[in-house]
Amino acid sequence: MRVVLATTNEHKVHELRQILRDVVDELDLEIVSAAEVDGLPDVAETEVTFVGNATLKAVAVARASGLPALADDSGLSVDVLGGAPGVFSARWSGSHAGPDAPRVEKDRANLELLLEQVSDVPDEHRGAAFMCAAVVATPDGRTAYAMGEVRGTLAREPRGANGFGYDPVFVPADQPDGASRHLAEYSDSEKNAISHRGRAFRALGPAIRELLTAARPTT
Ligand code: IMP
Repeated sequence: MRVVLATTNEHKVHELRQILRDVVDELDLEIVSAAEVDGLPDVAETEVTFVGNATLKAVAVARASGLPALADDSGLSVDVLGGAPGVFSARWSGSHAGPDAPRVEKDRANLELLLEQVSDVPDEHRGAAFMCAAVVATPDGRTAYAMGEVRGTLAREPRGANGFGYDPVFVPADQPDGASRHLAEYSDSEKNAISHRGRAFRALGPAIRELLTAARPTT
């Protein structure tokens, strides 16, 4: 059975293929990204919650493709900014990098603006969390969701070359042996083990099994 990931962000697709490996094997699924399916709508993220936006994406893609869909909406919530950038994480610097700039340049502009905004905030008040809402939707409109979160602090300088977005400035809490590696210094599997996205989609596992088993064509 084919399942569409309702995202064109190749970093998310890469992470989700690894995170979903167990459920994919168990249910014999074929994961395809939204970029591989013709005729999908470009869904505007008009809600102000992660779960609201993830549900919009999953429902629209399941309806348009006729296939079950999985969506993620995620972002970085900074304590002293009252949870911002939050659902606006991908667009925090507006069109500063240019409206048609590649994702990597938008990510860099977002990260630089955020660092500047909190430059006067002392170390003990630099708490933040990556948040993720994971949603599964079937073509007949059934949905389920789960949330995932990883807490940490905002560094002052970017470090590391892995991951994407704000990973270079995020230092996950509770690292073994008191280490303070930035998330962009984690390997893919290390990141997926603790990340908001890994936690959300693992928590969604039972609902994915239930809804996709019910949606499986009987031939
Ligand atoms: P979305 O595509 O609307 O969910 O936007 C997610 C945005 O949040 C991304 O563009 C990144 O800026 C940020 N973000 C979400 N997850 C991560 C992550 O795992 N690492 C770094 N940044 C992330």
